[in-house]
Order: sequence, then C-alpha cells, then structure tokens
Amino acid sequence: MTEGKIVKALSGFYYVLNEAGLVQCRGRGVFRKNKVTPLVGDYVIFQAENDKEGYIMEVKPRKNELIRPPIANTDQAILVFSASEPEFSTMLLDRFLVIVESSGILPLICVTKADLLSSEKRSEINGYLQDYRTIGYEVILLSSKTEEGVDQLRPFLTGKTSVFAGQSGVGKSSLLNALNPELELKTDEISSHLGRGKHTTRHVELIAVGGGLVADTPGFSSLEFTEIEAEDLAEAFPEMSKVSEDCKFRGCLHVNEPKCAVKTAVENGEIPPYRYEHYLQFIQEIKERKPRY
Ligand code: GDP
Ligand code: ZN
Repeated sequence: MTEGKIVKALSGFYYVLNEAGLVQCRGRGVFRKNKVTPLVGDYVIFQAENDKEGYIMEVKPRKNELIRPPIANTDQAILVFSASEPEFSTMLLDRFLVIVESSGILPLICVTKADLLSSEKRSEINGYLQDYRTIGYEVILLSSKTEEGVDQLRPFLTGKTSVFAGQSGVGKSSLLNALNPELELKTDEISSHLGRGKHTTRHVELIAVGGGLVADTPGFSSLEFTEIEAEDLAEAFPEMSKVSEDCKFRGCLHVNEPKCAVKTAVENGEIPPYRYEHYLQFIQEIKERKPRY
C-alpha cells in the first residue's frame, strides 16, 4: 500500500501522484461506506496493480475543503491583484484577506503588472504593500510580462498545495504561465472557468509548479461574508486581534465601545486607518446580512 495525493479526477478515475509518478486509480468500496467521495487534493492510501494503475483504499482526513473549486487540503491562497488595470484597491484586498483568513488557509499577496506603474504610482503602492508586510503578510510585487519578482514567488510554492484567487483580469493565468512556461494556458482560460454556471462540469486539476502543486482554477470566487460573524471579524485582521485583548469589554466589537484598544491603536498610527475603515464597513455588512433561513 502506498500513500499519494489525488491531482486530477476524471470519468471515474482518480490520478494519484506519489514518488514513483502518476497512478490511475479507481475507488474501492471501502471508503464509500463512510460516504467519503475522494476529492482532488486528498491524500489517499492506494493499492497499486502495476506501475500505472491501482485502487484507492482509504482517504485520509482533510484539513480543509474548498467548494469552488472542489479541492481538499489547500495550504495557501495566492491572492492576485493588479497594480494597475484594474486599479489596485486595498478595499478589495482586505475583502479577500478576510475570506481567506476565516477559511484557515494561509494567504500570500501578489501584486501583478508592476511594469505598468509610473515611479510615483509605484511608490504609492509600495507604501501600501509595506503596511501589509508590517501586519505580517508575505507580499510580492511582480510582473508576468517582464518577469520581475516572479522568482520571489517560486519558493513559496514548494511543498504546498496552492490556489490562486483574485478578480478576473488581474493576471492570474499570466502569472501561472510565467511560473511555468510549459503550461501555456490561454490567458483567459482560467478565468473562464468561473461564472459559467452549472452547465459545464467543473473539473479541477493540480499542476506541478515550482516544486509544489497549484490548482488550475481560481478559488474564493464569492466575496460575501456569508460564514463570518461580527464577533469573529477582528480575528481576520491580525493587527487588531493582537491588541484586542486589551479592550476594556469582553466581546468588544471595536466600534463604539469605550476604552477600546483597537481604536487607540488606530489613533496612535499602529493600525492603518484604511484597514480600520474597511473593518467597520465589513461589520456593517455582516450586521445587515439577512438571516439565512
Ligand atoms: P486572469 O483573468 O486573472 O487570469 O488574467 P489574465 O492572466 O488573463 O490577464 C488579463 C490581462 O492582463 C491580459 O491581457 C494579460 O496580457 C494582462 N497581463 C497579465 N499580467 C500582466 C503583467 O504583468 N503586465 C502587463 N502589462 N499585463 C499583464
Ligand atoms: Zn475594542
């Protein structure tokens, strides 16, 4: 019996990657009893019949599970934003960060199209990026066109399963191509997987890039806070959750409460004011959210 990872599922076959290569597997009845349907990204135990074929015997417990794309055990979300065209927005970045933080997946911020920046624009954006580095995020400014910065991203992929996220047109597929020129994905191919509705079977594949695996389809397409409660929002802002222990009131939402350590940190310049404004806006959005049923 060998352990491997499912990198592709197609027509009833699971393609399991292990040290010896790719093995085409079928599922054996065992895990069906537990109602586990194997997912791309699953670690499995399989029984090899020969070099190329085998049977999956067991699906290992998952550390997480994304719905879109359906993929298990994602380690990292590479949040892709463009420096220009479309315009860089900290509001959108914070929205993605909250959603990824609340899913328990490690975010990494990539800002693409650096080649389109004037020197003034570049220093303005670098100012923002420095704020995010201070908070503790890894941030890479790069260009898929000139390949500036692309090599900085490679080591972050090694040994991990990553999913790209970001609005359409920011340069996700171009970046994947720049990382792995052999791929030659059409630049709009990745984004076209999104928003097509249920008519096309959404098949996801993990591709080997930079010593790691990357989903060929972006994730985190919904930017609504359907799963987040107001009292948990500050946890998705690391610089706020760091100081919130010092708030006078337990359960402080850092809005109108007196002696709020978060508000003090904003006033002292320890928390960027725009981050706090986004926090307030997201709190409002969560409060106005209709109950689900
Ligand atoms: P996706 O929808 O996020 O996958 O974005 P694409 O990779 O399809 O890119 C959208 C558009 O931006 C395409 O016209 C790309 O050629 C362009 N683009 C992507 N990356 C860069 C970059 O680093 N520099 C420049 N100048 N254009 C880029
Ligand atoms: Zn507070």
